[in-house]
Amino acid sequence: MRDLILKKIFIPFYDYIYKKSSRIECYKRLKRRNLLSCEDLYFIQWKRLKKLINYCYYKIPYYQKLFKALDLHPTDIKTLKDYKKIPEFNKLSIIDNKSEFINPEYEEKNLIIAHAGGSTGMPVKVYRSPQDQEYICALRARANSWCGWNYRDKIYWLISDQNYIKQTDSLGGKFFSFLHRNNMANTKNITPERMFCWVKQIKKFKPDYLSGYSSLLEEFSIFLINEKINLNGIKGIFATVEPLVQRELISRAFNTPVYNEYGCSEVPCIAHECQYGKMHINIDEILVEFEDTDEDFETKKLVCTPLYIYGMPILRYNTGDTAVLNEDDSCECRLPYPVIKLKVAQANDNLISNNGKLVSGMVLSSYISAVTSGIRQFQIVQKDLLNIKIKISAPNYANEENEQNIRKLLYELMETTSIKINFEYYDKIPPDINGNFRPVISNIGNNDNYKANIRAKNAHTYQ
Ligand SMILES: [Zn+2]
Repeated sequence: MRDLILKKIFIPFYDYIYKKSSRIECYKRLKRRNLLSCEDLYFIQWKRLKKLINYCYYKIPYYQKLFKALDLHPTDIKTLKDYKKIPEFNKLSIIDNKSEFINPEYEEKNLIIAHAGGSTGMPVKVYRSPQDQEYICALRARANSWCGWNYRDKIYWLISDQNYIKQTDSLGGKFFSFLHRNNMANTKNITPERMFCWVKQIKKFKPDYLSGYSSLLEEFSIFLINEKINLNGIKGIFATVEPLVQRELISRAFNTPVYNEYGCSEVPCIAHECQYGKMHINIDEILVEFEDTDEDFETKKLVCTPLYIYGMPILRYNTGDTAVLNEDDSCECRLPYPVIKLKVAQANDNLISNNGKLVSGMVLSSYISAVTSGIRQFQIVQKDLLNIKIKISAPNYANEENEQNIRKLLYELMETTSIKINFEYYDKIPPDINGNFRPVISNIGNNDNYKANIRAKNAHTYQ
């Protein structure tokens, strides 16, 4: 009854009064587009793209210089082919020119920072205005609704975003989470003891859905299966940011369907699976260009422009991922958003410490991005339980503060100071013999027998 009053009366009343929270309004507007045709969506996309290009031309220092150098004016861009005159950007473009990409209309302290770098080892900080952030949540909410989620349904998050984790510690943050009906696990330390806390939290909070990084969901699923814990009543799981390789395992652990979301910190919520398991692109809010690759004729690289981000607008961003466009893009759900088949980069390894502690590679990458500066790329290689090598590419090479911060972080996350950490500096960190690059590599972290032994030992300890 209390839940019903909150859901039906108090929270809608708050949304009505507190107009600054534009999430519900954005969500309603976005959701109405589910009924449009694909052509209508492309029309909206083009209008929004023109608005963004115009804005970048007049307001954003980096693009002002770029347009001048290209001798290009927004009115010259009449087709998508014209738009391609703007070069592609990648993580390094942002790292090297960060301050010029930030919208000077905002004071930096009023922008929200998102840390990226999970799949490439390039620690990018991207900035969003509060309105951008609300828009991201609304767009994700629309995509979640394709799988049966309702706007007021409760969600429990398993992510490493420090902004949110810190937020849950403050009174204001707790109130905000309460209003948006979400709750969050503290994922900084992943131990069986901590996962028992997540179970307690979930049982008390009673979420309708779970959402989180695929590797964290996977680890939690293994824990639940080993401990024979059933978390009943969860209607679905949304896996995000990392490749979803253990869909069946996660689905079995929670006894519910798992849906994949494709996006990154630079361009959130590019595409999302519907209830029939097909991946639909949010083309009205993200322009996705399919560019040729050397791989084969069908495989295309994804170059994305988020059309709703104005805190740090990014035009033509190469995500580093590839996809195959479905020839038959129809889906039983009849949504107007086109369907793609993704081919995303290889997942990170996890680290394991000698006390059995597991550190998610994705979480670690995000924290490294938060505690360092001036690094263009990093790679962490765990040789054995006691030795970790950190490879760094940075313009000024050795930076004592970065080294100290990384050491402190690893000691804290792995809950041990007995590991030996060595730093190596490079102009460019070389890829592996197959030409691939993974920021976190563990010679033991992905050894299934070793992990099984550690889990068995921990299960015994906590029974
Ligand atoms: Zn569908």
